[in-house]
Amino acid sequence: MYFYQLALLTSPLSPLTYHFKSLLKEGSVVDVELQKRTMRAVVLSTSQEPDFQTSEIVGVSEFSYSEKQRELASFISRYYFCSLGEALGLMVPFLVDSLQAEACVTDRLSCNTDFSPSHENQTSQASKIILSQKQNHAFEFLKTHKVSLLFGDTGSGKTEIYMSYFEEMIREGKRSIFLMPEISLTPQMSHRLQEHFGDKVVMWHSKLTPLQKKKALKSIHDGSAYIVAGPRSALFLPLKDLGLIVVDEEHDDSYKSSSRPRYNARDLAIYMGKLYGVNVVLGSATPSLGSYTKFPHTRLKGGHFVSKKQFIYEPSVESLSPLILNHLGQTLTSKEQSILFIPTRANFKYLICGDCGYTFECAFCSVGMSVHQRAHALKCHYCNYTQAIPQVCPECHSKNLTSARLGTAEAVENLKEIFPDARIEQFDRDVITTQSKLKKALERFNKAEIDLLVGTQMLSKGHDYHGVTLAVVLGMDNMLNMSDYRAREKALSSLIQVAGRSGRAKDAKVLVQTFNKEFFDAYKDNYELFLEDEKLYREGLYPPYKRLCRILFSHKNGAKVQEQMHRMQERLQASSDVEVVGFGKCSVERVANKYRFEILLRSDKSTSLIAAVNSCREPLAEIDMDPIEFG
Ligand code: ADP
Ligand code: ZN
Ligand code: ZN
Repeated sequence: MYFYQLALLTSPLSPLTYHFKSLLKEGSVVDVELQKRTMRAVVLSTSQEPDFQTSEIVGVSEFSYSEKQRELASFISRYYFCSLGEALGLMVPFLVDSLQAEACVTDRLSCNTDFSPSHENQTSQASKIILSQKQNHAFEFLKTHKVSLLFGDTGSGKTEIYMSYFEEMIREGKRSIFLMPEISLTPQMSHRLQEHFGDKVVMWHSKLTPLQKKKALKSIHDGSAYIVAGPRSALFLPLKDLGLIVVDEEHDDSYKSSSRPRYNARDLAIYMGKLYGVNVVLGSATPSLGSYTKFPHTRLKGGHFVSKKQFIYEPSVESLSPLILNHLGQTLTSKEQSILFIPTRANFKYLICGDCGYTFECAFCSVGMSVHQRAHALKCHYCNYTQAIPQVCPECHSKNLTSARLGTAEAVENLKEIFPDARIEQFDRDVITTQSKLKKALERFNKAEIDLLVGTQMLSKGHDYHGVTLAVVLGMDNMLNMSDYRAREKALSSLIQVAGRSGRAKDAKVLVQTFNKEFFDAYKDNYELFLEDEKLYREGLYPPYKRLCRILFSHKNGAKVQEQMHRMQERLQASSDVEVVGFGKCSVERVANKYRFEILLRSDKSTSLIAAVNSCREPLAEIDMDPIEFG
């Protein structure tokens, strides 16, 4: 009889011991019973016969996790505080046969199987990519660095460079992962990749039908897929002979998972690059300060196509002002298209002076404070500092303080009343709920069957609206004033991304409603300058110079979670190399009948944070390493 340590897939439980009549390989996927339920589990290791009764493994599957997948899972479970079973549960295992094949690929001479593709007719179906000199220069840079940043303006030709790199990998018989935010996996992008790479590219995302998923997995398992493109889950497929990982729009928040395991796919891509010994390319027009400071970059400026953009600023709180209506009206009259961008409704409201634009910052954290109507207070999401809602603006003494916001649905309704003949549509998560709705809306917009699209972030990513001559941008000040150390980065990059979407073919106007013209105008064409200035602001306080860790407690029994939070906070406060920035009730005090408490930690090193948390972790503590959400 053999005994095994097993990780139960997707279960938060620690590994358990089971037995089986024959010898099983590490990584094998098996079936076990736990409390009368059959579950999938992974063999971690053999073990001694324990001094308690064990159950038998009831089935052995044809799947197995590779050694590297297990190593990655082990890192995820340590760094992001989840079980091994939860970490392995992110990944798709190999078919046992193909794993053996993988082992023999590394030793090609002793293996007769030919894994190199037949590339004779590879480019026959697509036109060849000829990179410009600038693009070639950037491409060479990426090839000669383990991890590098392709810092290229929207439309500067980054995707063409990635595609050239994928081509090169195919010629070498290697596979590539192409990560992008879910939202950028548009019909346009799929079409572009498929047109060029045919069946060698596989799209992998959450909206695949069971049949599409089966087909995708088949071509991954049989090795005919050379490029896997998709959002963060595309990182975890059983690819043989990995050669390259590309993370497009590397600054995008959607790479961070907001539920356990709370991993960041961009950061894991970099870890995997080391683990697999392959190059990692991070691409963005507006790179995160972290990537910009940590990795060497190559800069691509200007669009591949040249068009002019005129920026107009209007100092006003968020509203459909006469100026905006006037510009929209003109564009409609001349039968041209517009987009109206309203950033995703933050969960929080921010107080702003309607006359001078003054906003309220935490005295300790240099971030905006949000309005908590019920408590009649302004609150900082980091240190929990709270103050009464002021009655007058400390700057201009106006009583016109407001936190009103405009939603996309409301904007569409108002605009339809004002422009009854215009074809106006809403473009956000509430309306565009499926891939096919997205496809149809974009098709109609590109065929000029829609005059004005009103949307959120969904509008700002991945699409190319060549006919648009007016982009109206609302809500920038609300973004800028968020209780978030990345508020400036988020606001500026959103503006640049939206502006980059419009007027790709024709000249265009960008109308920005903001009291912070100096900020946006100084940096909109010079993101490097912004990043350099941002360094000074973040130094000593925020990532990438400090590491943050947020500990969440949530339970129906408010007294119980509060007690656990306090016990942990007291012990953390005694620790010398981590700092307790703040603790107490979360800004959102209750969700689904559960009371929420939190602790925010800061340290120079993530290892210090991990050690400190492990030394005093309470059962209800949910750990969020490198958090990006506060509230
Ligand atoms: P990015 O990914 O940086 O936004 P793209 O790669 O999408 O930029 O390029 C923008 C536009 O320019 C696309 O329409 C693309 O087809 C075109 N383009 C970019 N590079 C080339 C090239 N070398 N040859 C021809 N067209 C190109
Ligand atoms: Zn004022
Ligand atoms: Zn604060």
